[in-house]
Amino acid sequence: MADLIELVEVSASYGRIEALSGVSLKVSEGKVVALLGANGAGKSTTLNVISGIVPATKGDIRFRGKSIRRLGSDKIVGAGISQVPEGREVFRDMSVHENLLIGAQLRNDRAGIERDIEIMAGHFPVLSKRFKQMAGTMSGGEQQMLLIARALMARPKLLMLDEPSLGLSPLLVQQIFDIIVKLHREEKLTLLIVEQNAAVALAVSDYAYILENGEIAVEGRSADLAHDDSVRNAYLGT
Ligand code: ATP
Repeated sequence: MADLIELVEVSASYGRIEALSGVSLKVSEGKVVALLGANGAGKSTTLNVISGIVPATKGDIRFRGKSIRRLGSDKIVGAGISQVPEGREVFRDMSVHENLLIGAQLRNDRAGIERDIEIMAGHFPVLSKRFKQMAGTMSGGEQQMLLIARALMARPKLLMLDEPSLGLSPLLVQQIFDIIVKLHREEKLTLLIVEQNAAVALAVSDYAYILENGEIAVEGRSADLAHDDSVRNAYLGT
């Protein structure tokens, strides 16, 4: 399968702090890739560099073989890359329906947008009963589902999720990952998932990278990493 996204020796800094040093990774079309690592390892920065929110100081980012390193965030979303950022920022004073429409703001195919809202209602039944509810009044798990649905309204080719399980109960984590796997299968969505919950992430992904201090320390097939004792002890806290 062709590479959808490829990072080649990417570095990024916040002032004098180098958050990424020479990170190379790729996500092939139709695959699920996990990006793991401790707090501060550079996982969110990697996603933000792909989204154009944090500039790369070195290296290149290629989407379908073309450099997107110097494109603005809007152009990157338009090209087919959507991100669900960490921390669950829904538009609290807007309804679920309005939040979904915001996810489609770069589109102008009204009929397609309405059809996709119906599709989201099918994927996320909990949202379908709450289209008129203010997003800020929903539970943490419901807000996380809304964020994923909102990102999907842009019809991305690559969906990047930053810690979808953060702060959720094990049951909700399972529900969210079940939906993610279903989306992957049914919509042929390519996914890059940042997770602290390595066990869950390795169970659903094809391939994984482990970041350590801004560098890729380990990479491999998820099934292999999940069973590798040295990886488990050193990085996965098991
Ligand atoms: P976490 O799971 O805690 O979010 P992470 O692996 O996603 O961790 P990053 O958020 O990418 O890590 O952070 C990588 C490094 O960059 C850390 O040392 C962090 O303190 C630093 N950093 C991140 N964002 C900023 C910022 N806006 N300003 C300054 N330093 C930052």
